[in-house]
Amino acid sequence: MSIPLPEAFCRVMREQLGSEAEALFEALEGVHIRALRFGDKKADTEVPGLLSPVPYALNAYELEKDSPAGRSWLHDGGLYYLQEPAAMVPASVLNPAPGESVLDLCAAPGGKSTQLSSLMRSRGLLVCNEVVPRRAQVLSGNLERMGVGHALVTQERPEKLAQRFPGFFDAVLVDAPCSGEGMFRRQAESRLEWSWDGVRGCQSRQREILSCAVKMVRLGGRLVYSTCTLNHLENEDNVLWLEENFPDFHRESFRLAGEEYPGILTCYPHRFRGEGQFAALLRRGGETEARVPAPLPPPVSREQKQALFSFSPFEGEVMTFGQILVSLPECPPLQGLRVLRCGLHLGQVRNHGFEPDHAWAMSLTPPCLPCVDMCEEEAAAYLRGDVLRERPERGWVLARWKGLPLGLGKCSSGVMKNHYPKGLRRTSGQMDETGLLS
Ligand code: SAM
Repeated sequence: MSIPLPEAFCRVMREQLGSEAEALFEALEGVHIRALRFGDKKADTEVPGLLSPVPYALNAYELEKDSPAGRSWLHDGGLYYLQEPAAMVPASVLNPAPGESVLDLCAAPGGKSTQLSSLMRSRGLLVCNEVVPRRAQVLSGNLERMGVGHALVTQERPEKLAQRFPGFFDAVLVDAPCSGEGMFRRQAESRLEWSWDGVRGCQSRQREILSCAVKMVRLGGRLVYSTCTLNHLENEDNVLWLEENFPDFHRESFRLAGEEYPGILTCYPHRFRGEGQFAALLRRGGETEARVPAPLPPPVSREQKQALFSFSPFEGEVMTFGQILVSLPECPPLQGLRVLRCGLHLGQVRNHGFEPDHAWAMSLTPPCLPCVDMCEEEAAAYLRGDVLRERPERGWVLARWKGLPLGLGKCSSGVMKNHYPKGLRRTSGQMDETGLLS
C-alpha cells in the first residue's frame, strides 16, 4: 500500500496553491524524473538512455526511467553526475563567472559544487564546505571523480567560516538542509519522516546558516538560497526574514531558459519537470570592496619543483599543502581550518622520486604520461586493483578506457603495479563494452 502524503503538508499546499494543490498531489504519486549532467571530461563513447536536454543547465539531459547510468564506469570515471533536473536550478541561478570567488556553504554530496565548477570553467576559487565529516569526504571524492581542480573542500561550521571570510565571496550558495518534501515522489518513505516540528526546526537552522552566509558576501555580490522543499516557512518566509534582518540584501530577478522570475522560484513537480526545489537570488547592495590580498602560498622548494617537472610538465602555480604539492589559483588563509582538499593535488616527492596523486590523473589536465588504453577485461581488472602482467611500458602510466583516464599504474619488468586507490576498488563485477558493471 502506498504511503499517504502527510496531512499537514497537504493543508499547507492547499493554502499555497488553492485548487491547484490537487494537481501537485497527483504529480507526487507519479514517476520521478532522472537526469545527468556531463562535466568537462571527454570519452570516446556514447551514453545510452539520454532523453531531452534540461533547458536551463549546461550539458544536462533527462534520463530513461530505468537507465543504468549510475552503475557504469563512465560515472565512476567522472564523465557525468547524476542529479534530478530541478536540483540543477540553484547553481544555474547563481551562474558564477570564470574567475569569481564562490562559496558553496552546504555542499555535500557535491551536485551543485560540480555544476558551479563547470559554469566557472574551472577558473577562480570554489570553496566547498560541508559540516558533517563523513559527508565532507564524499564531497571531496565526488570533486576528485569529476576532475575539479580549483576547489577547496572544508569541513567547518558556517560560523567559523563567516569569521574567516568576511565580505570575501562574489557569490555564495546556501543549499540548506531542509524538510525534503522534494523527496516525497522519489523516496516515499521520506513522507514518514516529515513532521510539522521538523519544518519549524529546519526553518530556525536555515536562519542560523543564512545569518553566517550573508557576512561572507562581498558588497555588490550575490547569494542564492535554495532548498529541496516546497512549504513557504522554509522558503519565501526565510527570504522575507532575510530581507528584513539584513536590509542591504534584496531579491533580484533572474532568467532561466528564457523565462523571467521575480527573484524567487518554486519548482513544483506538477509545473516543472523535476522533484521539487526552491531558489531565491539576493544581491547585496553597495560597491565592490577591495579584496583582501591573498597571502603568499607556502613555498615549493627547488628540489620539489625539479622532481615535479622531471615527472611531467605542469602549467600553473604550485604550492605545498602539508607534504602534498598542489595547484590552486588563489589561496585564502587556511590556518586553523579543517581542509580536506586544497585545489588539485599533484603528488608528493618521495625518496624514490615524484609520486603522482590519483586526483591529478582524474583531473581535466592529467600528467603527460604514456597512456595504456585498456580493453574491457583489462579495465575491469585494473578497477579491482589487480596487478597487470605482460606490459611492455616502463615507469608511470595513465590507465585509460575509451579515452577516459581511470588512474595510474607503474610498470617495471613487464608488470604494471596498480595505483588505483584502495577505497575505490571494485571487488567484483565485469564490465561490458558500455562500461556497465554487472
Ligand atoms: N548542495 C548539496 C548538493 O547539491 O549535492 C546538497 C546539500 S544538502 C541539501 C544540505 C547539507 O547541509 C547536508 O550535506 C548537511 O549535512 C548540511 N548541514 C546540515 N546541518 C548544517 C548546518 N548546521 N550548517 C551547515 N550545513 C549543514
